[in-house]
Amino acid sequence: MTSRALAEVKIRLERRPREIEELRSAGRKVVGTFCVYVPEELIHAAGLIPIRLVKGGNPDVDALGDHYLSTGSCPFARACLGYKEVNRDPYFASVDAVAEAPTCLQMERVLELYHKYFGVEILPISFPRTYFYAPDADGFRFFMDQLQWFKGRLEELAGAPITEERLRESIRLFDATREKLHRIYGLLRMDVPPLRWEEAFKLVHAGFYLDRREYDALLGDVIAELEAACDPAAADPDAGPDSLPRLMIFGGCLADGDDKIVEVVKSVNARVVIDDFCTGSRVFWNLTGGDTLEELAKRYLTKVPCGSLPYPHREGDPKIAHITSLAKEYRVDGVIYYALRCCDPYIFKTERFRRVLEGMGIPMLDLVSEYTPSDLDELQIQVENFVETLELARMRG
Ligand code: SF4
Ligand code: SF4
Repeated sequence: MTSRALAEVKIRLERRPREIEELRSAGRKVVGTFCVYVPEELIHAAGLIPIRLVKGGNPDVDALGDHYLSTGSCPFARACLGYKEVNRDPYFASVDAVAEAPTCLQMERVLELYHKYFGVEILPISFPRTYFYAPDADGFRFFMDQLQWFKGRLEELAGAPITEERLRESIRLFDATREKLHRIYGLLRMDVPPLRWEEAFKLVHAGFYLDRREYDALLGDVIAELEAACDPAAADPDAGPDSLPRLMIFGGCLADGDDKIVEVVKSVNARVVIDDFCTGSRVFWNLTGGDTLEELAKRYLTKVPCGSLPYPHREGDPKIAHITSLAKEYRVDGVIYYALRCCDPYIFKTERFRRVLEGMGIPMLDLVSEYTPSDLDELQIQVENFVETLELARMRG
């Protein structure tokens, strides 16, 4: 879509590195985060600047990560190190500390290496990895202790306490933003949505960098424009129902800049309508719904899980439940499962997801890729063939 509000987001993003530089000169500190499991609300409430360090897609930067991690590690984990080594990316260069609640062991290593090789202060939050198959009071208490510890470290870094009022304000702000993103993704359920999934996905990424209040206001403008475009009075009377196959795409971390698969799906005769990436819908899917530290802890413990968490074969698996519910809600015809090379946790679960989805009559294409362009043609052909089979199935009714 051509949108004034989306163009404004782009302009603000261009300005942001300079703004951060100025804020740092004035004494504000930046805390980088890698995963969606770090409660950024606490960073914000401390008056620190949360920035999600989730860039990828550049094979040269990824190769620099080989200086620290073996090539048997996932490209995203290696890129996190490569970006810090070159230090040319303004966000990686500006962090005063990095926080992480690693659900994946590769990310845990990245954090250790940041401290060892780059001397960056690290704030590791332990996440009760077994909580998903045995939710219990002990797990909750453990995570609460971790958050209290994290809060204390942030207060030291900021040189000021996180008051209850500041925490409440931040939690409410982050929830308001999540609600807006939900509303935007909700439009993708329409037959012919007013924006493409790729645009909605990039809009989520903008929130990793922008000032959170400004971002929230910008999302409000985007919604106003999009909803006006959906007004039946403004709709094109000749536009028929959408005949394109509807795709869901999901997997591990599809980093900001890892555009290979995004470009491939954009080029084929299909419409992506929903994702389940930790850089996409999983950023905003669960709300806190309250405004206390306890409620915040609960949100992070019970959010749609990362595939790297161990949730063995049990009834009511929250990941499977979420994926199947998305497939129904967004009327999905086919699923692309996208894992990075050496991402054992996601690759290991491929067949399980396939069985469940195919049991619902939804075919799944699984792809394993990395940041080099060497497999681009192959990916293109695989996705085109997959979409053709979906088109045929649609024609047969
Ligand atoms: S895939 Fe999971 S472990 Fe990796 S960055 Fe995303 S949330 Fe973190
Ligand atoms: S879950 Fe997979 S893609 Fe995500 S950080 Fe871990 S190994 Fe990499």
